[in-house]
Amino acid sequence: MPINELRKRQLFSLEAFPPKKEQSAKSIYEAVSKMARLHPDYISVTYGAGGSDIQQQVTVDLVKHIQNCGVAPLAHITCINSSLEQVDRMLDRLEEAGVRSVLALRGDKVEGGVLEPPFLHASDLIAHIAQRGGFEILAACYPEGHPDSDGVEDDVTYLKKKVDAGASGLISQLFFDNADFYRMRELCAREGIRVPIEAGIMPVVNAAQVQRMVSLCGAKLPPKFSKMIARYDGNPQALYDAGINYAIDQITDLLASGVDGIHVYAMNNPDVAGRIFDAVHNLLMTA
Ligand code: FAD
Repeated sequence: MPINELRKRQLFSLEAFPPKKEQSAKSIYEAVSKMARLHPDYISVTYGAGGSDIQQQVTVDLVKHIQNCGVAPLAHITCINSSLEQVDRMLDRLEEAGVRSVLALRGDKVEGGVLEPPFLHASDLIAHIAQRGGFEILAACYPEGHPDSDGVEDDVTYLKKKVDAGASGLISQLFFDNADFYRMRELCAREGIRVPIEAGIMPVVNAAQVQRMVSLCGAKLPPKFSKMIARYDGNPQALYDAGINYAIDQITDLLASGVDGIHVYAMNNPDVAGRIFDAVHNLLMTA
C-alpha cells in the first residue's frame, strides 16, 4: 500500500540497511525480521550511492524480504555516480518486485562522487521518476540545512523544487534539537510546502556513533546531548540506555507537537527499535 494511504494517524517507520560485503546477510535478515514484527507502518531500505548491479541487488533483495514479512517497504534510490540507464534499471527491478514507494536522493558526494546530466540534483531524479510514473516519491529534508547549502532557508527553497517535481512526502535528516525541526517546518509552510514531513530520529547508543554522525551529516550536538555523552562515556550500558531515552524524549515532544510521523534510524538493531516502539506507539494520533 502506498505510504501516503497509511496516513490515518502519525506514522512510525524504521530504516534498515542491506548487508555490506563483510557482513553476514543471515544476521541482518534476522534483525530486519524482528523489526518487522513490531508492525511499523513501513521499513525503508538504504541504497549504496553508485548504482552498481550488486548495490541494486542487495537493496531489492532486502525490500522483497520486508514485503514477505508483511510490512510496506520504501526503497531508497540515489543518482550520484549513476547513468540514466542505471537509474532506470533500478526502477525496473523495483517495479518487477512490486515496490511502489521510493525515497529519491542525490547521494553523498564522498570519494569523488560524480553528478552528470540529467541528474544534477535530487529534484532531477524526482522529475524523472514522476514522468516515468508508477511510483509514489518521497524525498529528504534537513532541519539544520544540508551541509552543502548556505543554511536552512536556502535549502528549503530547493526543497520546494523537489516537491514541485513530484515528491509527495518528506523524511528528515537526523537532528538532536527539536527546535531545528520546528524551524524548518515553519520555513516549509512559508515556502508553500504542504506535503507531510516525517522526523528522522537517530537513537545514539554508543560513542563511536556520535563521531560518525557528526562527520557524516554535520549534526549539531546540543548541550543536553553532549552532557549525556560525557556523563556516560566509558559505561556502555548506561550510554545505551541514555541514548534510547534521549530519542524517546525527542519523539514524545515531536508527537505532542503534531508531527506527521517518526522515522527511526534503527541501524538494524531490533532491540533499540523495540524499546522505542514500546515507549511511543500509544502516542501516535491524528497528525
Ligand atoms: P539534493 O536535494 O540534490 O540536495 C543536495 C544539495 O544541493 C543541498 O545543499 C541543496 O540545497 C542543493 N540543491 C538542491 N537542488 C538544487 C538546485 N536546483 N540548485 C542548486 N542547489 C540545489 N544517501 C545514500 O547514498 N543512500 C541512502 O540510502 C540515503 N538515504 C538517506 C535517507 C534520508 C532520510 C536522508 C535525509 C539522507 C539519505 N542519504 C542517503 C544521504 C543523501 O544522499 C545526502 O544527504 C545527499 O548529500 C543529499 O541528498 P538530497 O537528495 O537531499 O540532495
